[in-house]
Amino acid sequence: MVKPELRQNKITNNWTLYAPHRSTRPMDHKKKKNKQKYKLPKYEKECPFCPGNEKMLPSVISEIRNKNSWFTRIVSNKYPVLLPEEKQKKFNDVTFPCMLTSGNQEVIVEHPMHNKNISSFSTCEFENLLKTYRKRFDELIRIKSNKFVFVFRNHGEGAGASRIHPHSQIVSLGFVPAYIQYRENNSKKFFHKHGRSIYKTLLEREKKEKKRMLFENDAFLAFVPYAAEVKCELWILPKKQRANFGKITNKEIILLAKILKKTLERLHEKLKNPDYNLVLYSASKHNIKASYLCWHIQIRPKLSRPAGFEIVSGMNVNPSLPEIDAKFLRNH
Ligand SMILES: [Zn+2]
Repeated sequence: MVKPELRQNKITNNWTLYAPHRSTRPMDHKKKKNKQKYKLPKYEKECPFCPGNEKMLPSVISEIRNKNSWFTRIVSNKYPVLLPEEKQKKFNDVTFPCMLTSGNQEVIVEHPMHNKNISSFSTCEFENLLKTYRKRFDELIRIKSNKFVFVFRNHGEGAGASRIHPHSQIVSLGFVPAYIQYRENNSKKFFHKHGRSIYKTLLEREKKEKKRMLFENDAFLAFVPYAAEVKCELWILPKKQRANFGKITNKEIILLAKILKKTLERLHEKLKNPDYNLVLYSASKHNIKASYLCWHIQIRPKLSRPAGFEIVSGMNVNPSLPEIDAKFLRNH
C-alpha cells in the first residue's frame, strides 16, 4: 500500500495531503443512478453501517446501547486519510518539502436506520450523537501523539458523502494544519489588541444587531455570520466561552441538541434537503485552555461550486447577502 504523505507547494506554502489508498473506496451514491426515483430502504444488505452487517466492518470501537440494539456506534474507517502508526518525519527539500505523520479517522454511525435523515432525528437522538462526539473527542485529544481533533459530517453526495447511512467522522492528527494555526493566531492577536475574545465579541454583536440571527436559547446562538463564505452558511456558537469541546456539560448538550435540531430541520425545509458540510471546530491541543478561543459548529450548504474566480483570487464569492439569507431562513 502506498503510504499517505503531505507535500508543500513552495509558492503558496499550502500543504496537500495525498491518500492514494482511498481511491478504491466504494461510493453508495454512484450505484444509485436513478436517485430521484429510488426510495431508500430501512436496511441495506451491502451497507457496513446497518445492524447485522458487522462482519463488513474493520472493528466496532464503542457504542451507546439501546436495549437490544444501539443508538450510536463508533467504528474504524476502512479507508482512513492517515494511518495511526506512522512516525512523524519531515523531509526539508527546498523545492519539494514532504512530511509523513500519524492520524486516524473513525466513523460515528448516527442511527441504526439506513434511511434516517438527520433532520428528522428526535432531540434525544441528537443528545446521544453529541454525547458520542464529546466522549470520543475527549479520549482522542488525550492521546499523546494527537495534536488536533475535529468532527465533521458530509451530508449528500455533493458534500463528499460516500455512504448514504447517516454518519459523522472524527479525525485525530499528529500535527496542527496550517489553516488551524492561522485561525488560532488571528484570534490570539485580536485578544491581545482588544483585550477580549473575538468569539465573545461576535456573539454580542450578532445578538445586538439581530438581523442575521436564526435561533437562540440559554446556552447557544444560531446565526448566519456577518462574513459568511457561502450562501446560507450557519454558525452555532456557545454563550459560555470554552476552547475545548470535550468540556461541554450535560446541560449544554441538551440545549445544543435542541438548537441543532431546529437549525437542521429549517435548513432541510427551506433548501429542500441540501448537500452540506457540518464541521465542529475545537482548539488544537497546544491551545486547549486558551481564553481567546471558543469551540463552535459551522454548517456550509453546497449550493454552488468554486470556479475560476475563486481559484485565482483565493476569495470566496457568495451570491447572497448574509442578512437576506437569515431573513429567508427565519421565514417559516
Ligand atoms: Zn446502512
